[in-house]
Amino acid sequence: MDTLITYRCFTFNPFQENTYVIYNTQGTAVIIDPGCCNNTEEQMLSKFIADEKLQVKALWLSHGHIDHILGLTYCQNQFQVNTYMHPDDSFLTDRAAETARLYGLSFTPFLMPLHFFSSEVFWNPFETEISLLHLPGHSPGSIGFYFTSTALLFCGDVIMRESIGRTDLPGGSYEVLKQSIQKKVYALPESVTLLSGHGPKTTVAWEKKYNPFVPYEN
Ligand SMILES: [Zn+2]
Ligand SMILES: [Zn+2]
Repeated sequence: MDTLITYRCFTFNPFQENTYVIYNTQGTAVIIDPGCCNNTEEQMLSKFIADEKLQVKALWLSHGHIDHILGLTYCQNQFQVNTYMHPDDSFLTDRAAETARLYGLSFTPFLMPLHFFSSEVFWNPFETEISLLHLPGHSPGSIGFYFTSTALLFCGDVIMRESIGRTDLPGGSYEVLKQSIQKKVYALPESVTLLSGHGPKTTVAWEKKYNPFVPYEN
């Protein structure tokens, strides 16, 4: 069975957030962090899904910040699938409408409840191994989706090319983020590609060498 995983990155909304569509050769797909926030962006996403004949099976959140969930209601409505996230960020998604208002963004309440990742619920529709890495520090419930066989880590706002996520937002901590990066991200094989919530992709090897905020300590 061919389980080759590939992905498409869209950059959406005023925060320039990366929304990822991950899919395999059978057309099974998951959307990570749906950030589309207007009709044009929604159509871009839907057109891609339709053109590639993808079946969206789930919506996954790397964390609960508003820029990563602006398109969640649209995607819930469009694809009628479950949304999964880490429970420690529910305090963020609970106040999504209020946060959107503070930024002057329109926000429609979620149509369906958000589910927490756990081993009891079926959340991985791919026939390939995915490790969920809990990477707190940018937010308490930040997670990375590590596709072991394709060496891809979708890491949200934990680490970006030569940068790291903000730690001054509620529940953030530089010390905690540093531990997450040093103990879990830098511990991965150096060839692993990092797909971040903002900016271009990078690799574990590159960040260990050039990240100015979290040095690699062996
Ligand atoms: Zn964030
Ligand atoms: Zn973000």
